[in-house]
Amino acid sequence: MELETIIGLEVHAQMNTKTKMFCACDNDAWGKAPNTTVCPVCMGHPGTLPVPNKAVIEKAVRSSKALKCTVNRHSHFDRKNYFYPDLPAGYQISQYKFPLASHGSVKFSITDPKTNLSEPSECRIHRLHIENDAGKLTHTAGSSLCDYNRAGTPLMEIVTEPDLRSAKAASAFVEELRRILINAGSSEADMFKGMMRFDASISLRPKGDTKLYPRVEIKNLNSFKSLEKALNYQERVLTKLWQEGKAPTGEVTVGWIDDEERTQMLRDKESAADYRYFPEPDIPPLELSDAFIASVTSAMEKLPSEMKEEYTAAGLTQAEATMLVDSEGLRTRFDTVKIVLGDAKRASSIVLTQMPGFLTKHSKALDDAPSAEALRELAEAMKSGKISTNAGKDVLEKMVSTGKSAATIIKDEGMGQVADDATLTKIITEALAANPKAVQNYKEGKTAAIGAIVGAVMKQTKGQADAAKVNALLLKLIV
Ligand code: ZN
Ligand code: MN
Repeated sequence: MELETIIGLEVHAQMNTKTKMFCACDNDAWGKAPNTTVCPVCMGHPGTLPVPNKAVIEKAVRSSKALKCTVNRHSHFDRKNYFYPDLPAGYQISQYKFPLASHGSVKFSITDPKTNLSEPSECRIHRLHIENDAGKLTHTAGSSLCDYNRAGTPLMEIVTEPDLRSAKAASAFVEELRRILINAGSSEADMFKGMMRFDASISLRPKGDTKLYPRVEIKNLNSFKSLEKALNYQERVLTKLWQEGKAPTGEVTVGWIDDEERTQMLRDKESAADYRYFPEPDIPPLELSDAFIASVTSAMEKLPSEMKEEYTAAGLTQAEATMLVDSEGLRTRFDTVKIVLGDAKRASSIVLTQMPGFLTKHSKALDDAPSAEALRELAEAMKSGKISTNAGKDVLEKMVSTGKSAATIIKDEGMGQVADDATLTKIITEALAANPKAVQNYKEGKTAAIGAIVGAVMKQTKGQADAAKVNALLLKLIV
């Protein structure tokens, strides 16, 4: 029997607001001592009242738009009740029947690592809602430690439709989703800090069948790699069960054990009824006006996939385009240089090849690299012919190593003096006079002899003359 794999995901992404979701506590708990960014609100003390953070709503609306979702004009918060030591209030404030946004889609591409060919794909988004995070438990021998710094951190929960057909597709999708959230400015989506977590549902069905069969939900995956591994593992388990005629008859929840690369049964899947959802009585419903939505989404950048298409259409490779999409720092520099030079390939050579090479050579990070403005000055000097492409490379290296501006380096090094025709004509005339033998050879038909004269000119100009210009002038002067 030929089987088809059906995968859907629930993604939790931590939002990068300054303060938490319902209180004024610092939302950046990274590296802070346990239980130092907490207050009675996020600790769920009786009598405290949550106040929604406007920035959370704004950023979630931007993300919803980037995911092509419809932002619902009316939504509200619900209490999701469950008891667990990391949840001080005994309930999570989430959104149930009326989420912030629904019905979106994400275009992404699945790249075959062997052939490096990418295949376009799309996954629909069922909904996006906002909710607060729980604290963090650390289990040690004989005890469990609670850190509530993360309690109250805003999360976006993004639920897909069951549109993904392989583990590879699932990981390609979440990589694109990560790009979109970073680009929308709503999450740092730092995987190392656990800022994106995945629950993956997987089921199989006979190929051609259109109904969905009971799924296995794999909880709490926190890297692209574990997501892909866990899904591949579970796909193998399910395939075997189907082949033995023992396909699952009910939904189950499993956990992924990273060290052992296998899943482990946790429990039968809980149903919504178990959570006793009811509307959050302490927060009024969210009524978003068209004007509000327009104001927070008006200045949005292009989607990462749209940027990538533009870059490849301009002549860049997939890899170069991806580098730019994934790094705002490289992108702003590249875009600036490209506008000046009007040439994507040349801009790519400067920003994506030469500059990173010099940064590595001088042990510097992108943060220390010449700014977009500094590179604009360099590109303008090259474009105007003040310095040659070759000299530009030397100037760039000095910009990286010294932090000085292109103009300062060009002036200090006495560069940029050789662009004007008069100066070059003088140098070339002198070189002709100093190399009579080469001139004679050239006139006798040995065209290669001209190389000696070009070399002399380049030496005289310390390599700063534009080679094409030297050649053109030389051919005029030699006759
Ligand atoms: Zn707080
Ligand atoms: Mn959730």
